[in-house]
Amino acid sequence: MPEIEIVRTNRKSMSLKIGSGGKLIFRVPANTDDGTIRKILAKNSAWINKKSDELAKERQLFRAKEYVNGEGFPYLGAYYKLKVVGKQDLPIKFDRGFFISNKALPEARELIINWYKDAARLKIPERVRWYAQKRRLSFNKVNITDSRKRLASCSPSGNLNFSWRLIMAPLGVIDYAVVHELIHLVEKNHTKEFWAKIKLMLPDYEKHKDWLKKNGYLLDI
Ligand SMILES: [Zn+2]
Repeated sequence: MPEIEIVRTNRKSMSLKIGSGGKLIFRVPANTDDGTIRKILAKNSAWINKKSDELAKERQLFRAKEYVNGEGFPYLGAYYKLKVVGKQDLPIKFDRGFFISNKALPEARELIINWYKDAARLKIPERVRWYAQKRRLSFNKVNITDSRKRLASCSPSGNLNFSWRLIMAPLGVIDYAVVHELIHLVEKNHTKEFWAKIKLMLPDYEKHKDWLKKNGYLLDI
C-alpha cells in the first residue's frame, strides 16, 4: 500500500483524493478510529494502487534532469528529446527535439531555460490577446516572469504575469491560466460568478485546473 496522508477534519464525510503535490490524502471525521481507517483503505486498495501507479509514472517523466542525450523535455505538454550533436551554428536549436552542441552541453540548462522563455514570450501573450478579444476584456501588459511558486497572477493595475514554466504545460492548461487571470480583471475573488465566467469561455476548464493542481509543482527543470 502506498503512503497516504490521513487528515482528521470537522466534516462528517470521508474523502480519498489526490492533493496538491501529487500525494494521496484521506480525509476522515475527527473521531474516526484507526481500525476503521485501515478497513476503508483496504476496501479501496485497488483504486489506491492504480492512482499511485499513475502518480509514479508522472513523476518519472518529470524527474530531475541530467541533460544527457535522449532525455525528454516537456514543451506544450509533449516530450521532446535532447539531442547532443557535434557541431551546429547555434548552441541550441529546436526541431521536434532540443539540439545542443557538445561544446554547449555544460550550459544546457541555461540554454533550455532561455529557449522556454522565448517560447513563452511568443505564445502566452498571443493566447491572452485571443481570449481578451473574445470577451472584450482590456488588460495592461503581459509579463513573463521567473516565478516558481506563482505560475500566473494579475496585478490591480491590470498587468498579467505568467511564469515561463507554464510553456511546458499542455496548451489547454496554458489557456486555463490565461482565462483565469483575464477573468480576475472583472471578478477579483474566486466567487461562483468567477467560475461561471471561466466556464463560459472554457467549458472543460475543470480538467485543466485539476491538471495544474496536481502537476503544477513539477513544471520545472
Ligand atoms: Zn485566481
